[in-house]
Amino acid sequence: MAEKSELELLAENLVLEKKNVWDEIGPIDREEIIMLGEEYKRFLDKSKTEREAAAVLSEMASQKGFLPLDSIISRGGLKPGDRFFKVFREKVVIMGIIGKLGLASGLKIIGSHIDSPRLDLKPNPLYEKRELALLKTHYYGGIKKYQWTAMPLALHGTVILRSGEKVCICIGEHKGDPVLTVTDLLPHLSKEQGKRKLFEGIKGEELNILVGSVPLQGDYKERVKLAVLKHLNDAYGLVEEDFSSAELEAVPAGPARDVGLDRGLIGAYGQDDRVCAFASYKALEQLGMPQRTALALFMDKEEIGSMGNTGMQSRVLDMVLEDLSAGLSSTISPVRVLYDSEALSADVSPGIDPSWESVMDDLNSARIGGGICLTKYTGSRGKSEASDANAEFAAKVRRIFNKNRVIWQTGELGKVDAGGGGTIAQFLANLNMEVIDCGIPVLSMHSPFEITSKGDLLMGCRAYRAFWESS
Ligand code: MN
Ligand code: MN
Repeated sequence: MAEKSELELLAENLVLEKKNVWDEIGPIDREEIIMLGEEYKRFLDKSKTEREAAAVLSEMASQKGFLPLDSIISRGGLKPGDRFFKVFREKVVIMGIIGKLGLASGLKIIGSHIDSPRLDLKPNPLYEKRELALLKTHYYGGIKKYQWTAMPLALHGTVILRSGEKVCICIGEHKGDPVLTVTDLLPHLSKEQGKRKLFEGIKGEELNILVGSVPLQGDYKERVKLAVLKHLNDAYGLVEEDFSSAELEAVPAGPARDVGLDRGLIGAYGQDDRVCAFASYKALEQLGMPQRTALALFMDKEEIGSMGNTGMQSRVLDMVLEDLSAGLSSTISPVRVLYDSEALSADVSPGIDPSWESVMDDLNSARIGGGICLTKYTGSRGKSEASDANAEFAAKVRRIFNKNRVIWQTGELGKVDAGGGGTIAQFLANLNMEVIDCGIPVLSMHSPFEITSKGDLLMGCRAYRAFWESS
């Protein structure tokens, strides 16, 4: 190899190098990537709603020696090394490992969210028109509505029957299951629809799910609707009024897939933010006894602003902190613990899309395969509603990643004034702690088929583990 020139050596020292995960890893890493990808796809297939993800995460944790927090405390208190989890309203899981320092020096938190954009059924959804039965929906989170038509949908969720009995529904995922769908207009007759603006191409009230077509035989006005109700009653004991106490979510049907001839990418619904949820779970599972107590948050309602009693703006973290204080007989005030705490807001970032480069600042956007992405701030316009991470904390996280050979990059949520958005970072920051966004890049975010890189997933796991292992 030719010797490097003086300027090349100078550049090596001074210029920020953009790395590609696939160039930086060895054969053992490649094997790990494949294994991890397979496990991740299985996780996604079982976790298409926040309730399913919460159940799957707590089940996986139970199998790896994590115990319900309440049961550990009632057996005489917490000690360093204890692995625990706590589920809230079946939609939030907080799990962790007690560190050598207990609550001294605060917590090390990694917070992700397990809700994803989808079509929720309305409280009174079922109707018949033109001898077809349909379900009215109200979309949840930020979607491009036109993307949700003319594709197989599955129905997942929970219904509380009149009797109080709780029924879980999952239609469209198993071999032999029927699927549901939202129809779209044929191009031949779409002259008027074609004049609509893209975001109104399909309107909210047009997101109606086709659910039946065969009438019951006999004399009744809406025989197709009645047939659908009979199906639901036979299978689940459901009557029409039960929709009013249901959370039924239509999501893209079918399993996660490898994407690309080289199988380097994963395509699936709900990777925002279950990819970071999975990566942080894997990191916690592999963690030994940390110095500072490690906490993984798997939150709900991020996609609608972290509102509600299962969102990051609720008091669930306070409740865990109360439990930890009691279990460790700690006298440190919770406010102090939170002030001393450090957090990664583990949420996906937009990867630069070669077909849509114009919305991104090339210098400041994450690349697919470029590793885990540190985002100092999100927000809109002049950083409105952003948590802007302190330089000192960004420096600390950067040092941790460099020391542990984590491939990382920086990103921003698109060009200035191109749009924007937020994560749970601002709500963690409001609790007094240091926090920075740190997540895996995604293409086609919020679409029915989101794309991530298996290489970035591995770096996510390594980054989160390195953060928890650091003092
Ligand atoms: Mn997200
Ligand atoms: Mn999102």
